[in-house]
Amino acid sequence: MLIGTPVETFEGEKRVAMTPKSVEDIAKLGHSCLIETGAGAAAGFSDADYEAAGADVVPDAKALYDEADIIAKVQPPSDAEVDMLRSGQTLISFFWPVANEDLLERASERGATIIAMDMVPRISRAQKMDALSSMANIAGYRAVIEASANFERFFTGQVTAAGKVPPAKVLVVGAGVAGLAAIGTATSLGAIVRAFDVRPEVSEQIESMGAEFLFLDFEDSQDSSGSGGYAAPSSPEFREKQLELFRQQAPDVDIVITTALIPNREAPELWTEDMVKAMKPGSVIVDLAAEKGGNCKLTQKDKKIVTDNGVTIVGYTDFPSRMATQSSTLYATNIRHMLTDLTPEKDGTVNQNMEDDVIRGSTVAHAGEVTFPPPPPKVK
Ligand code: NAD
Repeated sequence: MLIGTPVETFEGEKRVAMTPKSVEDIAKLGHSCLIETGAGAAAGFSDADYEAAGADVVPDAKALYDEADIIAKVQPPSDAEVDMLRSGQTLISFFWPVANEDLLERASERGATIIAMDMVPRISRAQKMDALSSMANIAGYRAVIEASANFERFFTGQVTAAGKVPPAKVLVVGAGVAGLAAIGTATSLGAIVRAFDVRPEVSEQIESMGAEFLFLDFEDSQDSSGSGGYAAPSSPEFREKQLELFRQQAPDVDIVITTALIPNREAPELWTEDMVKAMKPGSVIVDLAAEKGGNCKLTQKDKKIVTDNGVTIVGYTDFPSRMATQSSTLYATNIRHMLTDLTPEKDGTVNQNMEDDVIRGSTVAHAGEVTFPPPPPKVK
């Protein structure tokens, strides 16, 4: 089969779904690769790099969509890209089928099969294809780097001839993939790190990384574990206690990284205006949930603002794209693993096994039919 990767057309997107290394790995599955000229440029990969790895470079998207059997890309297709899909073709990309119902309908009407990388089930066998986790890991790391770039002090404490410097205090709200990456990065920079999550099972991970898990002094305690490593909504009583805890933390911490997410819902609002007002001037909030409305009341999506009391609030939604070489490398590997599962005989022939939980779960349209939502996975 011919696997093709176009230039990303979404504004500001710097990632690419195929790297020279993944071209070599895909060849081992019996497939060949095509790349649109310039597709890897913003992520640091030149046409010559792809050619050296064995890919053919095509001059434009039309040529790519005409020739390729499978299109691998990062962002969901634009309207123009959907119009280039054809019957029998497969598209593998992030798709967000809940938010993009019409797009999914139109793509399936073209007769194409759509594999949504955001729908890969969160089960251990599928970790190698879990592109959301790959990207969240990068976002968590980058959130801390962004915080430090906007924080006019050291993270680590120091005793110098010119005086003693206290370590920065970092609070991470939500200790899923992005939160744990943020905790690891902030502790390695020498900050004092505290973290809160509604799922009690993450406390050990938090503590093993050298951070403090903030327990709620509350009968029900942390109680909002949902399924598949995701949280369920908290009760109003729980939420009140949580906000009380954050109110106590607000004047003490220097950096707040918020990552709280409940799937398919708006982000829970956890850092209120009065908490921002209670923070010291020079403090920084990085709100990773900005895409879904933000965990902080004052976050503005895709913007960095400074409040009247001198608190910087960063609401960027493109952290992975800001580290395009790293994120493309991981994403391309996730895609290559998906292709490996789709090519069990490694003979260049795709077998879309709809009995396989991972393939079924991520296939949102199949040969002209919408196949989303999938049945619940059988394997844990
Ligand atoms: P995840 O599901 O692994 O983690 C979210 C965590 O939030 C879970 O541990 C959950 O228990 C916790 N949580 C839910 N409600 C909470 C509450 N009320 N209080 C405290 N914790 C709560 O998700 P993830 O993959 O780590 O992603 C985290 C966020 O980062 C998401 O909003 C995602 O969209 C976002 N993200 C942003 C960027 C960006 O560039 N800004 C990039 C990637 C991911």
